[in-house]
Amino acid sequence: MAYKISNKEHNSCLECGREVYGRPDKKFCSDNCKNRFHNRRHSEEKKVIERTVNALYRNHEYLSRLINSGVKAIDIDIAKISGFQPDVITGYRKTRSRHSECRCFDLKYCLTEHKIFRIGKIDGSYSAEECGSEAGTSAL
Ligand SMILES: [Zn+2]
Repeated sequence: MAYKISNKEHNSCLECGREVYGRPDKKFCSDNCKNRFHNRRHSEEKKVIERTVNALYRNHEYLSRLINSGVKAIDIDIAKISGFQPDVITGYRKTRSRHSECRCFDLKYCLTEHKIFRIGKIDGSYSAEECGSEAGTSAL
């Protein structure tokens, strides 16, 4: 049987704010509130993930369009206007030439405050090249 917690400071239900009766560590007034609370939290977490994944897809689409039109560098503000989000990436590293190189799945670009450049595909010989050669010198 439920009883009111004898402490003056009783808990409030995390979902509806009503007083919670029962064990001192009880956080919800009912199973309904408990379920509603966890479902909402779960769906919020899912939304964050979905937003990030969608941003990655949009970035990949945008970078692919640039690559297909032969664009190797672009002003960061122009990219942002087109919906590109430079801070949403799948990988990051500093290149030998001290540039910040970002990855979006199989694509890469170097990033400064004002532009993205060396936009291209990550290829097999990539790790040997270290993002340095725009002239296409292959490291054999
Ligand atoms: Zn409640």
